Amino acid sequence: MTSQPPGPILEVENLARHFRSGERRRPIRALDGVSFSVNRGQTFGLVGESGSGKSTCARTIVRLYEPTAGRVTLDGADITRLSQRQLRPLRRKMQMVFQDPYASLNGRMAVRDLVAEPLTVHQPELGRAAVTRRVKEVLDQVGLGEDHMLRYAHEFSGGQRQRIGIARALAINPELVLCDEPISALDVSIQAQIVNLLRDLQRDLGLAYLFIAHDLAMVQHIADHVGVMYLGQLVEKGPTDRVYGNPSHPYTKGLLASIPTPDPRVDLTDRPPAIEGEIPSPINPPSGCRFRTRCPYVRDICAQTAPKFTDLGDGHDVACHLYPAAAKQDDRVE
Ligand code: SF4
Repeated sequence: MTSQPPGPILEVENLARHFRSGERRRPIRALDGVSFSVNRGQTFGLVGESGSGKSTCARTIVRLYEPTAGRVTLDGADITRLSQRQLRPLRRKMQMVFQDPYASLNGRMAVRDLVAEPLTVHQPELGRAAVTRRVKEVLDQVGLGEDHMLRYAHEFSGGQRQRIGIARALAINPELVLCDEPISALDVSIQAQIVNLLRDLQRDLGLAYLFIAHDLAMVQHIADHVGVMYLGQLVEKGPTDRVYGNPSHPYTKGLLASIPTPDPRVDLTDRPPAIEGEIPSPINPPSGCRFRTRCPYVRDICAQTAPKFTDLGDGHDVACHLYPAAAKQDDRVE
């Protein structure tokens, strides 16, 4: 008997978020027509440089930013246009872990109250004793103890603070956790501990993650599927082993080429060139392919026409004119 792949808990279709800018009233196109899905119990990794739109994507999914266009479907329900009141019961299924545990935790609240807060919002029927029981349980799941409950966030290390942030997200038993650069602010020695904790929690609780990071090696370690973002758009996506084993977009190749190799015996002469230059402004993105100003393979058509996604097989898609065959319908927002 063959096992069926798990269905999606989250589907994102042509999602866009533009911000107003003072500069000649041109919008800042921070997110511009992004589509992907996150399967139940699995991890979708979003990678790309700073300014590629990864965090805007997560914040638009949870409606911290209102979408300019597109659709977000959570567990089969279209949540894109729901009022905040209509959204509240569905928020229980989807929680967020933020990049900076220093900024995301209220320093005047004890750990017990920080972790209890989502419970008191979403399950007001719970009594104080039941809330405290749940706080102890979830602190235990993230490797903290009952003795931490009456302490304050500033008394903890960065890694411990991120464990508190994860406990807070898990308190109401979500099915999906959006992890927005959850390890970027941590010491390298702590990063692996947090990633391993997230993996253990996924195994034990069946969680799905949208995991956002600019550390490609870490994303490879945790993600089942990966999407590569550049200047507000996805340029390549697919199963992690396919994208890392056969990177196809020049941007993905450049990102992977920039991962340091600790072994001096590894021959780097066949590596593609690392990406040079800065990511352009989303106020005035390049015409055609947005990567063309930094691409070593640029040709005339790249300035004229935005590339559509091409199916490379096994769910591996790339948007680049170097792969013109069997182009898929791609209704990006322009
Ligand atoms: Fe480079 Fe052209 Fe492909 Fe863009 S479409 S990545 S500019 S070759």
